[in-house]
Amino acid sequence: MKIYLAEHRGFCYGVKRAVDMAISSADEGCLVHTLGPIIHNPQMINRLKELGIKTVDQLAEIPEGKVIIRSHGVAPAIYRQAENKHLTIIDATCPHVKKAQQAAHELVTAGYKVVIVGEPHHPEVQSILAWTNQEAAVIETPAEAEKLPNYSRLGIVAQTTFAANKFDAIVAILKSKSEEIRIERTICTATDFRQQAAVNLAKKVDVMIVVGGKNSANTARLASVCQDIGKPAYHIESASELKPDWFINVQAAGITAGASTPDWVIKEVYERMEELTMHDVIHLENGSLIKGTVVGVRHDEVFVDIG
Ligand code: SF4
Repeated sequence: MKIYLAEHRGFCYGVKRAVDMAISSADEGCLVHTLGPIIHNPQMINRLKELGIKTVDQLAEIPEGKVIIRSHGVAPAIYRQAENKHLTIIDATCPHVKKAQQAAHELVTAGYKVVIVGEPHHPEVQSILAWTNQEAAVIETPAEAEKLPNYSRLGIVAQTTFAANKFDAIVAILKSKSEEIRIERTICTATDFRQQAAVNLAKKVDVMIVVGGKNSANTARLASVCQDIGKPAYHIESASELKPDWFINVQAAGITAGASTPDWVIKEVYERMEELTMHDVIHLENGSLIKGTVVGVRHDEVFVDIG
């Protein structure tokens, strides 16, 4: 079986930057906390824990030391509260997210009604909303866009990972609702590139393995875009979840990974797939499987070396 890796996979620029900043902030003489999980990947969270970096949900849980702001960004009030507590702020907000926050802030300050196009409960969207002083509307669907009233001046900002085609459909509706409209297309290409590369690879192989945290929305989306074109795609978190029967009669398999999956996890999956497919898998009549090397065939008997 041949194993191929998707051209774009794993850590995006913003996540890599945040993880690197977290790792280099580890400090034996000082408490280090991340405000919320730095990425949606349990293996990475454990690795940071080993370095003494803990995850908390609230600033109130941090008594002193350093606080790492993750790539999704936070509200301006969080910076003020951290400064008041004399915490050292390590700001790993992705520059693309920062741009969306600033765009939203400038639009609302200039008197525009701001509309954020994104998932309302996503932490990044919540952070952009906070930079408008909670004055923006958040919408996710064309139906929600239709329901908005008319405004004299409308400013639109996108969640960085929002699907470009969905954003354009929503903007087309909003254009009819305002005399003056400013569109900040703050969409990051990393997600699109990963999805496109996953589809391109899925077209060439028999099965796709999609690696990433079970709670990672962008990893789940990678699996669904492969399934949408009719290919089996298995979403796993680590190599231990791979099953030999996924590769029976498979000539070529593909691997892709979500934006929060570290390289070493992808490498472990690749190596385990090589191990699993090094031998022939024999399907017995009773439904069970054995693995080994076929050493001979006589009439309807197959001789297998399972050593
Ligand atoms: Fe930044 Fe794009 Fe990665 Fe989000 S997906 S963290 S915006 S690089």
